[in-house]
Amino acid sequence: MPKHTFNPVTLIRKKRDGIALQETEIKNLIDAYTSDALPDYQMSAFLMASFLNGLNDNEAAALTKSMLHSGIVLDLSDIPGVKVDKHSTGGVGDKLSLILAPIVASCGVPVPMISGRGLGHTGGTLDKLESIPGFTVDITLDRYKEILKAENMVLAGQTEEIAPADKRLYSLRDVTATVESIPLIAGSIMSKKLAEGIDALVLDVKFGSGAFMKKKEDALRLAETLVGIGEQFGKETIAYLTNMEQPLGYAVGNWLEVKESIDGLRGEGPADVMQITHLLAGTMIYLGKKASTVEEGIEKSKGAVADGSAFAKWVDIVRAHNGDTTVIEDPTRYPPASTIEPVKAKRSGYITEMDAFAMGMISLELGAGRRTKEDDVDPSAGLVLHKKVGDSIEENETLATLHTNNETIISECKDDMLKAITLSDNQPALHKQITHRVDRNGIHDYKS
Ligand code: URA
Repeated sequence: MPKHTFNPVTLIRKKRDGIALQETEIKNLIDAYTSDALPDYQMSAFLMASFLNGLNDNEAAALTKSMLHSGIVLDLSDIPGVKVDKHSTGGVGDKLSLILAPIVASCGVPVPMISGRGLGHTGGTLDKLESIPGFTVDITLDRYKEILKAENMVLAGQTEEIAPADKRLYSLRDVTATVESIPLIAGSIMSKKLAEGIDALVLDVKFGSGAFMKKKEDALRLAETLVGIGEQFGKETIAYLTNMEQPLGYAVGNWLEVKESIDGLRGEGPADVMQITHLLAGTMIYLGKKASTVEEGIEKSKGAVADGSAFAKWVDIVRAHNGDTTVIEDPTRYPPASTIEPVKAKRSGYITEMDAFAMGMISLELGAGRRTKEDDVDPSAGLVLHKKVGDSIEENETLATLHTNNETIISECKDDMLKAITLSDNQPALHKQITHRVDRNGIHDYKS
């Protein structure tokens, strides 16, 4: 290991004792780690000290900056317009990016979007896109810019050049029990988003059983930290807190979600999906300076679905990424899973709970998700709900349909589905779908 111009032990000790580090001190640690000049054991100690004692806003911004500059920061200044992206902290049935990106692009706002894969119970946009035959997300940065210029949007996977320090740190956090730290999560997310070359950002921070943050208070703190970092970098950032107690929409699983997003773009999407989609899209259109208020942005978003321009943009973008547009135009052409089986209600009643986490795990078992990064996903596997929380159901009526190419697990998954759904004699009060907006002026209750 080469010698440092700083003493790592002194910095780890400072953080251990609750003393805030300076920007240059954090930069030294991150730079040394990324260039193999700091061993895993010292970085692990620093991460654990940060996990236990927290990082203040300046430290979180310094961490983000160091990770951001560990790789390429895309320069999109030759592409006209205010470039706006959206990031979701992840959930079950969350196909919103597939609907809102073409809406926003068709309203004239460029959307450069670098997404991730699913891991554990949450799905990933890249896996959904790759369920479309031929769709390529592994593109060079030159091709990324070309598609963005031509189509006003682009959908790609993270490359080695984007925030490489985050990639290494995330793997280390994964094995040192330091993932669930708000400033570390915020730095990780924002370093990747800022590297995309965006001008503004909309965040969908989810809470509840199917989300990364189970408690609303934690999600609010994460939203505040993310917005604070975005604003420190001069990018207007608006976050919404949204409920992830039950899956979003009816479909969970890669192609099943693409199909539901096509419904959304054709004006036939589920109400919960479309409410959040139009809010996030409307906010992006506002931040992209194509509407003077978020409300006007929402109207434009609805207009782009109603007049077919968003769907037309989706077909164009699928073609630009070498995807098969015939299944987008006619989803019935897509090959179904070999086993499709209903899950029937054992009694009549009202649905009071549909555990999003459990359903994410069932979808994974059916083949739609991966346990390790190396696993392949089955594009046609997943589940489709027939009912949502608050609906009534009769005994023997279908609650959901399971889709899989592995029929050996179907009976276990059916049992798990029944356990994940709670029925009662009384109709439940419905959860609020969107609870807060967080922006540079602070936290606001969201009134829909
Ligand atoms: N997503 C990220 O990109 N990073 C984290 O640390 C957690 C979730």
